[in-house]
Amino acid sequence: MYANGWFTGCTTPEDFADAAAATVAQGYTALKFDPFTHEMQPFHTGYVSGTISAGGEELGMDKVAAVREAVGSKIEVLIDAHGHYNVPTAIRIGNRLAEHSVTWYEEPVPPEGYAALAQVRQSVAAPICVGERLFTRYDFLPIFENRLADYIMPDVVWTGGISELRKIATMAEAYYIPVSPHNAMGSIQIIAGAHTMMTVPNFYRLEFSIAALESYNAVLDKPLDIRDGNLLLPTGPGLGYDLDTEFMAAHPDPAWNG
Ligand SMILES: [Mg+2]
Repeated sequence: MYANGWFTGCTTPEDFADAAAATVAQGYTALKFDPFTHEMQPFHTGYVSGTISAGGEELGMDKVAAVREAVGSKIEVLIDAHGHYNVPTAIRIGNRLAEHSVTWYEEPVPPEGYAALAQVRQSVAAPICVGERLFTRYDFLPIFENRLADYIMPDVVWTGGISELRKIATMAEAYYIPVSPHNAMGSIQIIAGAHTMMTVPNFYRLEFSIAALESYNAVLDKPLDIRDGNLLLPTGPGLGYDLDTEFMAAHPDPAWNG
């Protein structure tokens, strides 16, 4: 897997460096983060101008440099841009990230911007990853046909399930594009994506938020089996896990009104 959520509470580049080193010490060999959230968090769900201030960009780059220095050259560093940027900003940031040998530069522009993505890709040295907000094989088709990404990251829930994820992965296989399922929704999403990837030769890594491990395990009948950053899957029928429905019934989300 690759680790996300390892930076909880971090603000300074030194904080990020320390947390990255601690995550590597747990056995993870790939880490992802968005180094620009100090300024871009308000635009996480609403694109406005697509720009970042010079100071905000410098602080983000300082975080990336600090993390790279802390983990060394053998650890993979993945950067998520959350679709925040316009074309010139995405190109400038992407080329600065490439200087730190990032493994991928994720969603540099909003997900519907195929033409913008093509323009960014022509001008950016860093490998591109997209796909958490592309939902079916038809949404991924222009990515493959126009060579718009080096990696794809379909989401087993948002694509509609295991079957659609598997079909998208097979399409990617024909283009020699690695697949890396997006995860931000919980235990069953992780387990379903992992099982699917066990059948996918072009699998890269599964996303995993280490900060959420306790809550992931709380709703399962047995904890996730994670060893040195690898998720081991059970051999039982189905997904191999049952939900702890008593725990779930006793701990409803206060915001849930379904
Ligand atoms: Mg993302």
